[in-house]
Amino acid sequence: MAPGSTVRAVNKVDVAILGGGLAGNLLARQLRRTRDDLSVLVVEPSHETSWKVGESTVEIASDYLVRRHGLSAYLYDRQLPKNGLRFFFDTPDKDADLFEMSELGSDHLPLFPTFQLDRARFEADLRVMTRAAGAELREGETVRSIEPGTPHRVTVRSDGQERAVEARWVVDCTGRARVLSRTLDSGTEVDHGMAAVWGRFSNVVDLDAMPNAAWRGRVRWTSRVLSTNHFCYPGYWIWFIPLGEGVISVGVVGEKAIFPRGARTPEGFLAFLREHAAVKALLEPAELLDVHGFSQLAYGTKQFFDGERRLAMVGDAAAFLDPFYSPGSDFISVQNDIVTDLIRRDAAGEDVGALAGDFDRFMQMRFEATLLLYQQQYKALGSFDIMSAKWNYDLATYYNLWLDDYMGDKHLDPRHVRAQVRRKKFILEALAAFRDRFRDMAARTLADGRYHRHNLGMYNPGTNLDWFWREVGTGRTRRRQNEVTASIFEAIEQQTAWAFEADRRGTARKQA
Ligand SMILES: Cc1cc2nc3c(=O)[nH]c(=O)nc-3n(C[C@H](O)[C@H](O)[C@H](O)COP(=O)(O)OP(=O)(O)OC[C@H]3O[C@@H](n4cnc5c(N)ncnc54)[C@H](O)[C@@H]3O)c2cc1C
Repeated sequence: MAPGSTVRAVNKVDVAILGGGLAGNLLARQLRRTRDDLSVLVVEPSHETSWKVGESTVEIASDYLVRRHGLSAYLYDRQLPKNGLRFFFDTPDKDADLFEMSELGSDHLPLFPTFQLDRARFEADLRVMTRAAGAELREGETVRSIEPGTPHRVTVRSDGQERAVEARWVVDCTGRARVLSRTLDSGTEVDHGMAAVWGRFSNVVDLDAMPNAAWRGRVRWTSRVLSTNHFCYPGYWIWFIPLGEGVISVGVVGEKAIFPRGARTPEGFLAFLREHAAVKALLEPAELLDVHGFSQLAYGTKQFFDGERRLAMVGDAAAFLDPFYSPGSDFISVQNDIVTDLIRRDAAGEDVGALAGDFDRFMQMRFEATLLLYQQQYKALGSFDIMSAKWNYDLATYYNLWLDDYMGDKHLDPRHVRAQVRRKKFILEALAAFRDRFRDMAARTLADGRYHRHNLGMYNPGTNLDWFWREVGTGRTRRRQNEVTASIFEAIEQQTAWAFEADRRGTARKQA
């Protein structure tokens, strides 16, 4: 206890949620909507919400928000619909004009809804929804310590005073503060050394009002502003995400070596961005509102869920990988579903120790599978040819394997979860083979000069493998899913064969 502070009365709850950010508020609301007899407390230090990264949702998170939380009308009313991911490619000198750059991205709004979120606005609205659902949200209170036990004892501090909370379940949602992970010493390192710097801008040039009818017509006048726009380079990428009300979030994620000294200052950040002609032109009239950064993005955890001790970690409080495909809110969705299921079962008298272990192994597998999308892949990002194949592959496997299962609630089916864990080695090996293929393509084509060969003048709507999309979420058989997986793998092997052709010819010559 801090000197001079006093402990006020203990209060007892079924579930103490530490941290009232995205994960914490959504979990509190979900728990109350699932069982309205549960007492749920959320402890959050801040009185006001502030801007954060984590603005772009992809399909699993959107399905969670729409289906599980019933927020479709809210999201279209208070946030922005997203028009998919869009990628632009540049010359080695980074001097291409925007209209010359090759582009990968859709020419129509997507089949599955996704959204761009202003996190400050969203979390402020979520706080109201959390309370309306009957959870207690205490602002201005910071968790100081956790003593795991039966019940757990959490010490919180506010206005110079300490207070104890006793809880049957503790769920850590404190983001990168990782209060429970630090208490249990459960953090792990992840072999993926990326850093990021980002900020908000007002008055950025409007991509949807460009004076070039051919360029806008190329995507059938669909909105590029509403996409997550990526400017891609070997080793890093720059994002543009709209937040509404004239504000655009802009950030850089990349290998640590690409960041010059001072990149996290306003001047350093602007200087770095202005090295890229197209980005510079978009930011010419813009005003930078703030700058933030992290020097190491990825980290892991030894454990997500502990059913025996009734402890869990969700969102950044557990682990984080890489924002390239915005998986942060997808992980929160799957984890909140699992934690809600465990707490629901426990409240009904079920022993959830073993089941939580299965869910935990499943979550670790998902984490390892997702890492393979990013690990050793950064050098590949700046090539239109390689990214056209990687995007096809990543999107198709995401829809076929992960989104389809999520929409069918397979992640909550213990038999499915156990079967997935049993197939872990096979699944990870298959995904790692494609990771290695894209990595090798980048190394070869950077060395032989083919890397940038189509970075100007090309357009690809990214729909080569869209033939099965309408099946996703319709309750397909496992057999059909496997057939689609085999077709995706075959298509991508064909689409990437060109990069290895020179090698094969070389080998054939040697043999002759
Ligand atoms: C560069 C970058 C870009 C990203 N882009 C995306 C994206 O486009 N899409 C996406 O889905 N994800 C993205 N993410 C990930 C996303 O930001 C996170 O997954 C998400 O914000 C995590 O939410 P959270 O609720 O776990 O944590 P937070 O939103 O950080 O919430 C944690 C809460 O805990 C509170 N807290 C902290 N300490 C304590 C304490 N001691 N006691 C009590 N409460 C405490 C904090 O005040 C805060 O409210 C990105 C991440 C990075 C680094």
